[in-house]
Amino acid sequence: MRVEINPDQCEGHGRCAITAPDVFKIDADGWGQVIVDDVPEDQRVRVDRAIRLCPKQAIAWVTSTPAG
Ligand code: SF4
Repeated sequence: MRVEINPDQCEGHGRCAITAPDVFKIDADGWGQVIVDDVPEDQRVRVDRAIRLCPKQAIAWVTSTPAG
């Protein structure tokens, strides 16, 4: 599964990178950034936590429809 940060909502608090450092980082400008294309199974609970903890509700799972 993929996860996205909405750059219009992110204010760079960095809680995502603290909560799930294998999935998010803070980029050179101080904004949250997703660093994996596909979130590993064992990271999903952490991502759910980051979604809850983000003070701007900027993080969301991407629900993609199957190709074809
Ligand atoms: S916790 Fe939310 S507002 Fe803070 S850096 Fe991450 S996505 Fe941005």
